[in-house]
Amino acid sequence: MGVIVKRTGMLLIISGPSGTGKGTLVKRLMKEDPSITFSCSVTTRSPRIGEIEGVDYHFVNDAEYDRMLAGDEFLEHATVHDHRYGTPREQVERALAAGKNMLLDIDPQGALAVMQKASDYVSIFILPPSFSALRVRLHTRNTDDPVEIERRLRNAHKEVLNICKYQYAVINDDLELAVSQLQSIVNAEKQRTIRFCPTILED
Ligand code: ADP
Ligand code: 5GP
Repeated sequence: MGVIVKRTGMLLIISGPSGTGKGTLVKRLMKEDPSITFSCSVTTRSPRIGEIEGVDYHFVNDAEYDRMLAGDEFLEHATVHDHRYGTPREQVERALAAGKNMLLDIDPQGALAVMQKASDYVSIFILPPSFSALRVRLHTRNTDDPVEIERRLRNAHKEVLNICKYQYAVINDDLELAVSQLQSIVNAEKQRTIRFCPTILED
């Protein structure tokens, strides 16, 4: 006599200032935890070298983005540093219904919007060790010019003020420690009774 457990999916929101290491952490987390599916966002920005359509983003033009917006196809959407980004609602809803753990790597505006809409989610804010370390990371990444970097740093100062709206925070100083802290949060959250109910069946 035992039980068959069908878990319900978890909506995992990872957010934080630009350059804090979200993308780096998400790649590591997903490599170690195959139960997590990445929510591939739609964006109007151009692909960077090495980025793949349908893997990193769905790259669309303004007209297509406007069409999706008008059709209410986004769970959330935001303009981030002059480009538009949106989370396609249907892929998230379908994955959660299928019991998958869905990960959103989205900016703080989008994260707060999802938190207001969704009834069940796990929200994690990624902090840099310091603003000076954040500046170094933005320069080292080499994707933005100095003026843009200063703009992202000013945004970061505002974004960290909302940290208490998130359930968890991880300081991304030592990368290995931050990855293991993320895994601990995800593993604990997987064991919440809400993810087992009401689908425990007798075999
Ligand atoms: P985000 O996705 O939050 O914008 P990235 O993942 O692109 O940030 O990381 C920004 C830069 O910081 C990258 O060059 C990345 O290699 C580096 N980085 C990420 N985590 C760490 C860390 N723990 N220590 C030092 N550098 C890091
Ligand atoms: P990048 O252009 O560097 O990949 O991402 C810029 C910012 O946009 C990052 O903070 C990233 O988390 C955020 N972002 C990516 N996809 C989405 C999305 O669908 N919605 C929102 N609100 N932000 C997103």
